Amino acid sequence: MAEIKTIGILTSGGDAPGMNAAIRAVTRSAIFSGLKVKGIYRGYRGLITNEIVDFHTQNVSNIIQMGGTILKTARCKEFQTLEGRKLAYDVMRSHEIDALVVIGGDGSLTGARIFANEFNFPIIGLPGTIDNDLFGTDSTIGYDTALNTIMDCVDKIRDTATSHERLFFIEVMGRDAGFLALNGAIAAGAEAAIIPEISTEVDQLAELIQNGFRKSKNSSIVLVAESPVTGGAMGLAERVKNEYPGYDVRVSILGHLQRGGSPTAVDRILASRMGAAAIDALMDDQRNVMIGIKNDEIVYVPFTRAIKKDKPINRNLLETLRRLSI
Ligand code: ADP
Repeated sequence: MAEIKTIGILTSGGDAPGMNAAIRAVTRSAIFSGLKVKGIYRGYRGLITNEIVDFHTQNVSNIIQMGGTILKTARCKEFQTLEGRKLAYDVMRSHEIDALVVIGGDGSLTGARIFANEFNFPIIGLPGTIDNDLFGTDSTIGYDTALNTIMDCVDKIRDTATSHERLFFIEVMGRDAGFLALNGAIAAGAEAAIIPEISTEVDQLAELIQNGFRKSKNSSIVLVAESPVTGGAMGLAERVKNEYPGYDVRVSILGHLQRGGSPTAVDRILASRMGAAAIDALMDDQRNVMIGIKNDEIVYVPFTRAIKKDKPINRNLLETLRRLSI
């Protein structure tokens, strides 16, 4: 295996709180291990457009507490073509980058896997997404912060909801995964969560109205994952109006505020551990793996597993939520 002297680091796809803590950890661990670091701006696009600068330890000073990503992020269609990736590879090699650390979600790690295989190039991935939808890791960087943001928002909405008698649908992110909706609902003491994982199995709205939601309650708050499979909060509100008239229904879509804010301690520690582990992995001759965390231990998850498999939700949590909402 060729010796690694210089690494490149980039953030790609949807941003997530804690990405900066990860950039800091990767940069400082690499320098600690005697490697040079290059920061690549705007994800894969920056590889193609040559937005690459030397990174020193002071480049990552005072960022651990910042949301977003100082490296910026982007979505890059060109990288999905072989010509685009060839260009990216040539630019990268012109900077003498010997290995990459990619921080991003499902799409970014899919791109990383293809790129690594095509050019036989070492890449380590870090799971950076608020959705927590990568297989092989208990948590992703940004998930805990987003969960806390959702909890705070729902607490506030509850104050107004309880002053009236309403059914509130609060839409949270999670296109394919209900982690934010389900755990957000438990954390905020909501009545129910409507999530994509079980949308094809049961009519969650009918179940909610028939079993869970009682009119005697002052108000009800239901968290809904934004997925087209669930219908989203607007779709469900429409259904209530048509199928269950008599309910005073309201919708609140939390949107992008879920991505923002200073990362929680949990996310900062996770990002710091994973960032350091990415350099350990490279030094250890690991290739094309995502750093994960399982039972508080760092694990290496091959890209193919991390992105291909659907990460299951813990179904016991649904039962817990149901019990606690009586
Ligand atoms: P996320 O990483 O948050 O899931 P995206 O799905 O938008 O975000 O992916 C981010 C970027 O990763 C894309 O803009 C593209 O550059 C790259 N990417 C995604 N899928 C592929 C693919 N199949 N082949 C090559 N690159 C990809």
